[in-house]
Amino acid sequence: MPLNYCEVALPVPLRSLFTYAIPERLAGSISAGSRVLVPFRNRAMIGVVVEVSTRKPDPERVKYIRNVVESLDPIPSLPPKLLELGRWVSKYYVAPPGEVFRAMLPPQVDLRHEREFLLTDAGRARRAQIDAAGNRSEEEITDLALLSLLEIEGNPIRADRLRKLPGGEAAAERLVRRRQLESREVAIHRHARVQKIVAWNENAASELLAEKEARIFHVLAEERGPLPLPVVAKLSKVSRALIERLIRQGKLKSWEEPIVAEEDLFEVDYTPPSNVLNIDQERELNEIRAWLDAGVFKAGLLYGVTGSGKTEVYLGAVEAALARNRTALLLVPEIALTLWIGRLCRARLGAGVAVLHSALAEVERAREWWRVRRGEARVVVGTRSAVFAPVENLGLVVVDEEQEASYKQEETPRYHGRDVAIVRAKLEGAVALLGSATPSLESFQNARSGKYQLLQLESRVENRPLAPVEIVDLREDFRSTHKVGPLSTKLSEAIAERLAQGTQSLILINRRGYSWFVICRSCGAGVQCENCSISLTYHKQRGRLECHYCGFSRRVPKTCPKCASEHVYFFGAGAEQLEEKLREKFPGARVARLDRDSVRTKRAYQQVLGDFASGKIDILVGTQMVAKGHDFQRVTLVGVVSADSQLSLPDFRAAERTFQLLTQVAGRAGRGALPGEVLVETFYPEHYAIQLAARQDYLAFFEKEQQFRRLLHYPPFTALASVLVRDTKIENAIRWSRLLSTFLAPQESRGVKVLGPAAAPLARLKREYRFQFLLKAPKRAQLTRLVSELLSFSEAEEIPAKAVLVDVDPLSLF
Ligand code: ADP
Ligand code: ZN
Ligand code: ZN
Repeated sequence: MPLNYCEVALPVPLRSLFTYAIPERLAGSISAGSRVLVPFRNRAMIGVVVEVSTRKPDPERVKYIRNVVESLDPIPSLPPKLLELGRWVSKYYVAPPGEVFRAMLPPQVDLRHEREFLLTDAGRARRAQIDAAGNRSEEEITDLALLSLLEIEGNPIRADRLRKLPGGEAAAERLVRRRQLESREVAIHRHARVQKIVAWNENAASELLAEKEARIFHVLAEERGPLPLPVVAKLSKVSRALIERLIRQGKLKSWEEPIVAEEDLFEVDYTPPSNVLNIDQERELNEIRAWLDAGVFKAGLLYGVTGSGKTEVYLGAVEAALARNRTALLLVPEIALTLWIGRLCRARLGAGVAVLHSALAEVERAREWWRVRRGEARVVVGTRSAVFAPVENLGLVVVDEEQEASYKQEETPRYHGRDVAIVRAKLEGAVALLGSATPSLESFQNARSGKYQLLQLESRVENRPLAPVEIVDLREDFRSTHKVGPLSTKLSEAIAERLAQGTQSLILINRRGYSWFVICRSCGAGVQCENCSISLTYHKQRGRLECHYCGFSRRVPKTCPKCASEHVYFFGAGAEQLEEKLREKFPGARVARLDRDSVRTKRAYQQVLGDFASGKIDILVGTQMVAKGHDFQRVTLVGVVSADSQLSLPDFRAAERTFQLLTQVAGRAGRGALPGEVLVETFYPEHYAIQLAARQDYLAFFEKEQQFRRLLHYPPFTALASVLVRDTKIENAIRWSRLLSTFLAPQESRGVKVLGPAAAPLARLKREYRFQFLLKAPKRAQLTRLVSELLSFSEAEEIPAKAVLVDVDPLSLF
């Protein structure tokens, strides 16, 4: 049988694949998509087989080719379509294939690998030799200890045990070089963790129990039934030792079960709304059903105003895909939304629904992933990375709130979940359905040009009106009150009104922390992060200044770090301050805050959102987290504080983002039977993004914005890439940018616009100095080729791979 070779993608920052030979014993168990353990340089790595072939590499190379150590999957982890998708992602986003595949695979909780060492005959002889000699050197003493250990053990020894011997690791390497030891990589499969379950033994007498026993009896036999041992101990307030004793005495029985996630209290007692689709929803859904029947790729954009009932259309489409024996992915922009939509889906569609997002514990994520891979779950609800969920026979991908920035991954591989969803649907002959009340310029332009088909829901369900939006001019407010604060007179009055009525207010503020600007009045210096060119944010509760970009934090200085004056002031209200002001102003009101500082866990999230939905909170303050998707029925006032803060950023999407945020948050008002009102505080009342958001006129905004994009050659009318050159030494960053410039400048003649190098808007981040190029190409293929050539050039010039960061279709230039 000819020896087979395979091309393996490894999680290293290199754009090439690596060739390995498949030893005969593994011949049947490796195919494209399998995870394999391979030696790489002097360690072992887990990679993905991209291709298997019998073609023999040229003889010069063959002698360097090493063997695959082990195949890790009984069935390939990645089905063929996903392998193809991964290769597309790698090419389009010029990302190393191994890093792309790593992002697609489940966390490796069931698997780790380790090196182990065996004694060779030469080693045995050497041991005897040192043993017999007197007068040993230090090195020989260590060698002897190690060789003897292996001899006595009789079995291979793993590297982790050697680490405990003084000098053991170095000795092992030395002995391997002398061929007195042999080393090899082994994969270690972890066993599923189990727990001890305890139950009352029904044959045991239940009269005349001692007090503690009676408590256990009550919990196990009357109240709850079998439970994990620690839970029994806690609920019946007895020691584990007592429970163990009762097990030995036969009063309790026990057995082992694999650990499963605890019951999710969020899901108990939930009944989904049973809506009868209205005519509009039915019409659009029928269209999607027809696409599914056709069984070929089709992309649709569901443009429906906030509260028009898009979720029902998604669910109907998912049901339609399932009915045609196909599977479905439903992507949402926020972890919090996976909980809501996941619950809704499970209630409607049953147990075949998996939820995937990055906040799940690794074990839980791996379990959900394999449930999908084995075909036990046929619907996946998840955030960005769920676009890679290993469903087969995909019929439908829904991308809810397709304009959201969270679909873009801001680390390698820098893919856009929505765009990958479209490509995946294309590869699988599926329907891609993007939905939004404020589609991205890209998607709406695609609908215009006929690339996507436009579906529309023009009015809210039951013809509820959109809430009227009023703009509050903060400059005017200041002129009349002479106070600067996050709460204008108008907004305060409106909140007071809601409190009197007993309805709810939702207040959006775009910044976390107490104050987002710290400055010395004496010398004018801002207190900046030590690692970044950005002002620190004051967090009052924690009593610290923090950097929101790198996590740096320091105590609040009493005096200016520059000039030692005592006039250090805090400006710019953040969410923490707004919450405090609201509590002061409305003492009886129930106020809560939802941002990354106040809710750090999934449970806390659910708690706050659940409390608000069920009316236990009067005023909810939050960052963008509260703006998206949620369906609160009793909100009659939405206030927006400093929503225009993005407008001053040097980013061509600033207006689009502001418009989207305002429209989204305004859409949270008046969703139930009660009418709503929206107040938007701003310093830029004339800006078109604010004006048109107040009128909730998406089409007018699109017209205006697309003219500007066309004129200035920005997406969707140009393919854009950003290239960042970065290093902790500014000289390096400058030198390398100049070098890249010599390659890029001549491209101008080929029709590609090259801007830069210029200091990036965030000129220093995490200790690195940053210079930026923007590349604009009229044709996509041109851009893809150019960035790929640029990286090859950079490699040839020996610029370190991590110094050059390419972002294709960047969402944020900041
Ligand atoms: P969108 O995502 O378009 O903003 P949702 O899908 O959240 O809107 O729906 C808004 C509200 O309308 C939800 O409370 C939903 O249960 C309700 N709803 C949806 N369809 C109908 C319908 N046909 N009849 C009555 N209520 C509906
Ligand atoms: Zn100062
Ligand atoms: Zn920082």
